[in-house]
Amino acid sequence: MTIASNLGFPRIGARRALKSALERHWAGTLDTAGLETEAARLRAAHRTLQVGLGISHVPSGEFSLYDHVLDTACLLGAVPPGYGWSNGPVSSATYFALARGTAQRPALPMTKWFDTNYHHLVPQLSPGQAFVLTANRPLDLLLEAKAEARRTRPVLLGPVTFLALSHGTAGNDPLDLLDGVLPVYAAVLRSLAEAGAAWVQIDEPVLALDLPDATRTALRRAYAVLAGAGGPKILLASYFGPIADNLPTALRLPVDGLHLDLVRGAADLDPVLQQASDQLCLSLGVVDGRNVWRTDLRATLGTLRRVADRRGARGLMVAPSCSLLHVPLDLGAEPELAPPLRDWLAFAVQKLAEVASLTRGLDEGDAAIAADLAASDRAVRSRRESPLVHRAAVAQRLDAVTPALLARPSPAPARRMRQRERLALPAFPTTTIGSLPQTEAVRQARAAFARGTIDAAAYDAAIAGWIDEAVAFQEAVGLDVLVHGEFERNDMVKYFGERLDGFAFTKHGWVQSYGSRCVAPPIIWGDAARPAPITVQWSRYAQSRTTRPMKGMLTGPVTLLQWSFVRDDLPRATVCRQIALAVRDEVQDLEAAGIAVIQIDEPAFREGLPLRQADRAAYLDWAVACFRLCSSGVRDDTAIHTHMCYSAFADIIGSIAAMDADAISIETTRSRMALLEAFAQDGNAYPNEIGPGVWDIHSPRVPSAAEMTELLGLARQRLADWQIWVNPDCGLKTRGWPEVQAALANMVQAARTLRQSAG
Ligand code: GLN
Ligand code: ZN
Repeated sequence: MTIASNLGFPRIGARRALKSALERHWAGTLDTAGLETEAARLRAAHRTLQVGLGISHVPSGEFSLYDHVLDTACLLGAVPPGYGWSNGPVSSATYFALARGTAQRPALPMTKWFDTNYHHLVPQLSPGQAFVLTANRPLDLLLEAKAEARRTRPVLLGPVTFLALSHGTAGNDPLDLLDGVLPVYAAVLRSLAEAGAAWVQIDEPVLALDLPDATRTALRRAYAVLAGAGGPKILLASYFGPIADNLPTALRLPVDGLHLDLVRGAADLDPVLQQASDQLCLSLGVVDGRNVWRTDLRATLGTLRRVADRRGARGLMVAPSCSLLHVPLDLGAEPELAPPLRDWLAFAVQKLAEVASLTRGLDEGDAAIAADLAASDRAVRSRRESPLVHRAAVAQRLDAVTPALLARPSPAPARRMRQRERLALPAFPTTTIGSLPQTEAVRQARAAFARGTIDAAAYDAAIAGWIDEAVAFQEAVGLDVLVHGEFERNDMVKYFGERLDGFAFTKHGWVQSYGSRCVAPPIIWGDAARPAPITVQWSRYAQSRTTRPMKGMLTGPVTLLQWSFVRDDLPRATVCRQIALAVRDEVQDLEAAGIAVIQIDEPAFREGLPLRQADRAAYLDWAVACFRLCSSGVRDDTAIHTHMCYSAFADIIGSIAAMDADAISIETTRSRMALLEAFAQDGNAYPNEIGPGVWDIHSPRVPSAAEMTELLGLARQRLADWQIWVNPDCGLKTRGWPEVQAALANMVQAARTLRQSAG
């Protein structure tokens, strides 16, 4: 019998129940016991749901109050000093201090979990780091399920991935600590077997990365120890891409089962079929755990049968490609999502039903799942043929893109001259990144408009009023290039997606970003196009209120793509090009409306980098081309700016230069301009203008003019004076007006000081 299994279930719960429990806990209105009770209630509900859907290997222990990497650090006693832990169980106060920081202590750093939009905390491991079993949470959660007579498959983050994602506090390599963590893992495994677990799932997604030999050696050492620990059968799980060149390592590990991501790593299947030992149980991740599309059951069943024909159905599992953490919970919560789109989607609940159905189809034949197959066939056909998905005009326009559309009329130095003439800016011009404080009044007006309690005229009047105030403030404080403030925007992706064809939005399609923070990404389901101008009205209005240049503010195509669920029936590059053409129309309309500086934000540009080095050049090629496609349709005297706010540019600086924006603003305050090194390398220097951020807007602290002058002095050591713009690190929407007023006044002062000293 084939086993229908799941690797992980969304934690957040229907209506984001976990989020509200956590926030009540942090606000002091729900105590630790109350939070635990609510978490246990959610876990029980999720177990019941999964069993009801026909899943026999239901995971346990993958639930987390905040993050599973942090959970693993706490399980192992990898808690840095100063957070109130010395031994025994890690208290919830310590746990949340590590996750969120306290007045005395910063939180652990956070970073993206592989190439997802989920963020994990980065454990800090000292060179002599000791590891102990603090409290056996994997066992507790197994027993919690057992008490309800449910058998679960405990999930552990594997020791090698845990160490690979950790940070050595003294430049030490965390992998050197492997021998310290293995006894703790071994003890946990033994306890799970004693409590009756038949299988344990150990996640080692590092297998989807380019691995140095040391990591492969660590995997061999680790699993030699864990296989002999007297624990349950080990299912080693890799996901997010093909195991590829790590297959020889993976297939020789002494484990009982191997989970393959056959959505992103379909290429693994043939070599695995050829090389895997007959005893190895294969978990076939055929249902996409990273995206929202319904599975083509008939085609997938074909793949499963091919495996079963080769290996026999014994020892097969059917599963999602990865944990369902990355997709929304239940399509059932979206009654307003219109057909036909609704018929083409599957969220976590629907995906598990697909897993169960495929399992049954494999064991019992097509007839056993005839209705499911018929519904799937219908959906596949209607999606393939839908004129809403495939629009001839979009395809024709894409076909007509020539290389000439990807280049500005003149090279950057010539453009710079014309822009200088037109804009007449001082040296070290000052500006901001776009958004100004989204005050309670702004949010209330938007909510009231959405609810229909105020009409469009009243809402527009409110927006116009805030723009007037913003313009007056920026003139008074002395900024050179102004912004309208983005008061009309809820979110930089949603605002554009809602106004583009081919994008859809859910009401409750939340996925966890970090801790209690969730996002509901748009679904790009059809050919993208812009039916009408999006930002022109407000930009034109704002420009009419001032003689200084008003910057137009757009979200770039790569970011719109990257922060959405993307259709899987076209290459991502093609979808991105469609969006780029839509943004191009907007850029040209802004220019025609008299806007002389247009900023196209691409904060997600780097996030799109593939996990494997060999795939990166192709990504960078099309991502750069999309930026150029959207930005090249303007005259020389129109300045194109872009903005990115993350660290680490060194390895992509060539691509950033190739985007050929006239100026880029970046986040450099926390690194004290060290990030500029990448932009100043000898022989490889960034050729255009740069606004290195001088105000860390993630903190309420107002930096003094002297501090900002000092930072700018550091920037001048790396850049030519003509290159430098003066701006904050990022948008100001999360800040309050008093801080913004004070900090921008100081920033303008710093620019003036610089102008004087530079003569
Ligand atoms: N223009 C956007 C803003 O100012 C940029 C946001 C971002 O970088 N994520 O809010
Ligand atoms: Zn930013």
